[in-house]
Amino acid sequence: MVQPWRSRPLLAAALGLGGRRRLPRSRGGTAALLPPGSGSGSGTAPAARPCSGGGVLRHLLLKLRATGPLTVAEYMREALTNPGQGYYTRRGGVGRDFVTAPEARREAASRSSRSRAVSVCQLVGIWYLSEWMAAGKPAAFQLVELGPGTGALTEDILRVFNQLASLLSKCDVSIHLVEVSPKLSESQAQMLTGGKVQSNSEDEAAYMKGISKTGIPIYWYRGIQDVPQGYSFYLAHEFLDALPIHKFQRTEKGWREVLVDIDPEAPDQLRFVLSPSSTPATENFIQPEETRDHVEVCPEAGVLIQRLACRIEKDGGAALIADYGHDGTKTDTFRGFQNHKLHDVLKAPGTADLTADVDFSYLRKMAQGKIATLGPIKQREFLKNMGVDLRMQVLLQNSHDSATREQLLHSYDMLMNPKKMGDRFHFFALLPHYRLTQPHKEHHLQSKSPLPPVAGFGELLLK
Ligand code: SAH
Repeated sequence: MVQPWRSRPLLAAALGLGGRRRLPRSRGGTAALLPPGSGSGSGTAPAARPCSGGGVLRHLLLKLRATGPLTVAEYMREALTNPGQGYYTRRGGVGRDFVTAPEARREAASRSSRSRAVSVCQLVGIWYLSEWMAAGKPAAFQLVELGPGTGALTEDILRVFNQLASLLSKCDVSIHLVEVSPKLSESQAQMLTGGKVQSNSEDEAAYMKGISKTGIPIYWYRGIQDVPQGYSFYLAHEFLDALPIHKFQRTEKGWREVLVDIDPEAPDQLRFVLSPSSTPATENFIQPEETRDHVEVCPEAGVLIQRLACRIEKDGGAALIADYGHDGTKTDTFRGFQNHKLHDVLKAPGTADLTADVDFSYLRKMAQGKIATLGPIKQREFLKNMGVDLRMQVLLQNSHDSATREQLLHSYDMLMNPKKMGDRFHFFALLPHYRLTQPHKEHHLQSKSPLPPVAGFGELLLK
């Protein structure tokens, strides 16, 4: 279950910076798995001493003493998004404990000429334009980003839209951000609008709105269900790996759920235990044909995919999901990161980022055939298909100082090298069936013309 060193791959060719880094675990996976009851969640625990973990830990200890062990999903939800105390909600940790691609790109850009940064985030913007063109340039589209962090990725995409303003001149574009963290939505507002936003009343679907520096309306929501229906492009970049997972362990007596309980040896600390019998989640989430001994399932990601599938089937558009992940093969991937270092997932909840790799095979299953799925494809292949090599050549030709060239080559290696990032970060797309099998009614090409390939998963053809 314990996995060796894995570096955190990047989406953007950030100049010389890594992503959310994954280093050796400080504890042995879900070690110390003991049956609940031998822990102190049964109500017999001595009173907890004041503890260093702060608000979330105190809250969890009270809860554990009152009601017994929690699922890992409940634990993760509290640690990340507990109102006021969670890792994201309390202080908006993006960029402090991990560096995601858009963040790295920004830092890189501030160190070299901004226009020279190898911004692969911009290639994501081009991906949406290419899908918009393949659909026959609909008169309007919404760009919906889930978990935008500081807003750096949307900012890059808006830059691409602005550079290609003549192409989009007749298109009504709007931006819709799904963000649960008040702190991070403030950062996003600052970055995208210069702080010119207004809060909405409780009865409106969007809790905040503003206008981007390039004149595009932006809205903020707490959940995807609040975003208006309509032709939309969705983006989830390092979002699904922050959603809560359930963990299961195969035992001689059958599948058991991994739970979080108070450590009886140290009443202000937590430990993993196994459920004494199967739980509702074990019954629902473990497939009879499962061959692994340890399985992680993220039902919230499943629900999200179902919602996206319904929306894309009904209104058209596409979703691009970019994350660390696997195709139903990995086991224990639950990790914590603090200050760019691995952090014990059970220590000081609320102070560290917690992540688990995305199971793309589960996402495919949850799409339930309503829409087509493409991928997962490795970052290295996706970026090659998106023309990163050509972009790199142009950047190198236009860089006249050796330091910038070196930096460019270094970042290209970080991104594309299979041993570094190239093989670890994946892209996965959701598209209406007609995008792959028959010309859309709005498609401007006649039915005899073949549909253009989906960029990134095939060649990029901007015609
Ligand atoms: N996409 C950004 C940030 C990823 S971090 C990037 O790649 O840099 C995860 C983001 O998802 C944060 O903005 C966090 O506040 C948000 N988030 C986490 N759980 C969420 C939830 N349940 N609903 C909405 N946003 C959530």
